[in-house]
Amino acid sequence: MAEVMTRMVDVVTRAAGVAPAAHAPEPILDVSGVTLQYKTKEHLITATYRVSFQVFRSDRFVLLGPSGCGKSTLLKGVAGYLKPVEGQMKLKGHVISDPGPDRVMVFQEFDQLLPWKTVKQNITFALLNGGKCRSRREADDIAMDYIRKVKLERFEDTYPHMLSGGMKQRVAIARGMAMEPDILLMDEPFAALDALTRRQMQDELLQLWEDTKFTVLFVTHSIEEAVIVGSRILILSPHPGQVKAELNAHNYSHANMDTEGFATLQRRIHTMIFADRVLEDETLPNV
Ligand code: ADP
Ligand code: MG
Repeated sequence: MAEVMTRMVDVVTRAAGVAPAAHAPEPILDVSGVTLQYKTKEHLITATYRVSFQVFRSDRFVLLGPSGCGKSTLLKGVAGYLKPVEGQMKLKGHVISDPGPDRVMVFQEFDQLLPWKTVKQNITFALLNGGKCRSRREADDIAMDYIRKVKLERFEDTYPHMLSGGMKQRVAIARGMAMEPDILLMDEPFAALDALTRRQMQDELLQLWEDTKFTVLFVTHSIEEAVIVGSRILILSPHPGQVKAELNAHNYSHANMDTEGFATLQRRIHTMIFADRVLEDETLPNV
């Protein structure tokens, strides 16, 4: 409860443009004034402009914005593949300079698994090569634990090409979680799934979160998905991505998606994304 209150205070102070209180908890991820660019032969493309946000332990923090606003670019920055031209990103107080097993990415594509390895081997391979486990036995135990969490125990010896898209994504999520990173990075992980499977996967992710309270930075361009999956939502403007607002969305799930409150929130977010000016000072902390 105290933690929730502290975070609410944080959101409120942020909305008012005031620095957070000195006793605020240390963020897992601190992104501060980050501008990310791509240099091609002819162009300099600014993907995000002076983006700031903080992710705290057990947040389900969503980056929401239209395609091309720099969400994947921000994840690449957090993962350590791209350096900011301005600002900095810190993981547990250390400036991010390289990729590391403390940040694991789950992608949208179904082909992120190694096709020549079984479900279990995909996970044990990551555990052994990522330095998480020294012995095969330990890796096997951890892999089976997470395979059970995503309800794929009957498929531990199956190769990826025999699995549906949803099952492949479950394996990728199990693999990411088995690494027990400080923060799980998810780049539109359900975007290529059919609507029913997508909904099921959102619920399963929330159930997994209830079990282990992992910290996740989740990217989506779907307002509905952001409201369902997220505990906090950072709204980004169209290209180049700038922060428009940060919202609390603890109270929404599939259970209340038919309510007027849910619909109103979605409309407000839509307006914020496409509004002309940056609306950070009008953040709605109590939605
Ligand atoms: P999103 O994930 O929000 O759809 P991206 O982060 O993929 O957006 O892209 C942000 C902007 O950066 C877009 O204008 C895109 O065209 C550009 N961009 C992305 N990747 C590259 C790249 N490798 N080289 C040049 N421009 C890129
Ligand atoms: Mg993207």
